[in-house]
Amino acid sequence: MHRLKIAVYFRLSKEDEIPDESNSISNQRRLITAYISKYLGDVEQQVVEYIDDGFSGKNFQRPGFQQLIKAVREGKIGTILVKDISRLGRDYIEVGNYIESVFPFMGIRFISVNDDFDSNNYPEGGVEINTAFMNILNDYYSEDYSVRIKKTLASLQRSGAFLASFAPYGYEKDKSNKHYLRVDVEAGENVKYIFKTFLECGNKAEVARQLSEKGILTPEQYKKSKGSSYNSRYKETTKFWTSAQVGRIIRNRVYLGTVTTHTREVVCTGSLMSRRVPKEEWIVRENKHEPLVSLEVFVNAQLVSVKPPAKKEKRKMGSKDSPIKGFVKCGGCHHVLNRRARLNATYECRHYYAYHNETCLSEQIKEEELLNIVTKVIRQQAKFIMDMSRIVREQEAAKKIINKELQQRETKLIQGINEIKLENMRLYESHKSGELDRSEFLLHKKNNEEKRDNLAAKLEQIKERGREQQDISFGIFDSYLDLQNITQVTREMVKLLVSDIYVYSKNRVEIKFNFADKLSMLYNFYKNVKSDITAFDAGEHYC
Ligand SMILES: [Zn+2]
Repeated sequence: MHRLKIAVYFRLSKEDEIPDESNSISNQRRLITAYISKYLGDVEQQVVEYIDDGFSGKNFQRPGFQQLIKAVREGKIGTILVKDISRLGRDYIEVGNYIESVFPFMGIRFISVNDDFDSNNYPEGGVEINTAFMNILNDYYSEDYSVRIKKTLASLQRSGAFLASFAPYGYEKDKSNKHYLRVDVEAGENVKYIFKTFLECGNKAEVARQLSEKGILTPEQYKKSKGSSYNSRYKETTKFWTSAQVGRIIRNRVYLGTVTTHTREVVCTGSLMSRRVPKEEWIVRENKHEPLVSLEVFVNAQLVSVKPPAKKEKRKMGSKDSPIKGFVKCGGCHHVLNRRARLNATYECRHYYAYHNETCLSEQIKEEELLNIVTKVIRQQAKFIMDMSRIVREQEAAKKIINKELQQRETKLIQGINEIKLENMRLYESHKSGELDRSEFLLHKKNNEEKRDNLAAKLEQIKERGREQQDISFGIFDSYLDLQNITQVTREMVKLLVSDIYVYSKNRVEIKFNFADKLSMLYNFYKNVKSDITAFDAGEHYC
């Protein structure tokens, strides 16, 4: 055994145009020397170096490598070490041939330090060594690790996987799939109770009071009682429920079965710092788990939430006779107009009469007139919204069909790519067994690779289209449905829909609506959906 030497092979590529210090000969030598003294130190074998400095790994016409193989053939070498498998060469079929066939046949131990590969770990050779080698190759072919992680995360987000560390109150993580939420029966009942009570009383503090009174554990206490080291973002250690806790539950769309991700993103790869993502870029996926409340209950709860706070309510008490009192403001100074309650109530700006402010409303306006205008505008608005929302819904249905079509194409493309992979393996087998000579093999392989790249590019396009498809829920606009045919506004309607009614001189009235942002979102969505459908129809067909 003493006559056998340890061969160390170094290669510095000339094709590595970016100078990479980790691949320098001295670095390769340092790494391998350290490995030898650590793991092969007690073997008293002579170490010989074979060096190819500035040679491509695409072929094996390298003096250092040829010398090494010559020494192998002469039976002088017992062990070969390289920094990584790509040092041996970048023609992985030939490299595989050496590692899987030539070296084992010659009884040579082969070690690739950075790949953590030592042929001594595979005494059976054959399939075992082939699998190990294939695994290493996979790593070479795959992209940079961090890019892969990022892609995995993005695809999890798109699929609607639940990604937060802890399940929200009312749910627990599935034991076999941590990205899936299951209803926690006990807490789930409490969530339903919270929504129900809130719809009845419309007051978060009241809901919190009732929960505390009933002795229901707060979300944090509940987690602790379940033995979880729950770390809430909200440091509420009190054993009493707060209206803030109730509010967070009522606003959380997770209770509709919806998963919202990509609300934050890391500042740069590997960084621990993250930043908020604009709401339009959040990834929202519906029907990902069992809902605890119906869409109707949820939407109603949101509508109750937009009611003006209780304090204002008190101030307006005693004005039940007027649905718009408190909302009517001067277009000039924006102060609430003075209501003169007579048989026919009128409004006027006291700033005009007190200071003769020129921009202020200079006339009196009849409440009856205002009510007619508000009723008419709400009716128009409701009709406009319902028309638009009907179109959007129809288009959404069309989108679902497109999504399905995209998915089918995606599956087909992936199948195609996998078939080519299989075909390549078969070719490689034929080549190894001598059925196919090298030039034929390379020709087939090249053709296959072109086909595969082609399919992969199409797959990427399809995936890109899939990413463009967004889910948006417009359930909130259902509340407009009944408003199209109203004859008289009620105070409830005004509170729900209107934020301000500005009155200017010469009978000009301006009505500002709540949900203005949602309306413009609906409008934009409507526009996008339209252009998207057109683009898709005009687009080429991929398969
Ligand atoms: Zn005024």
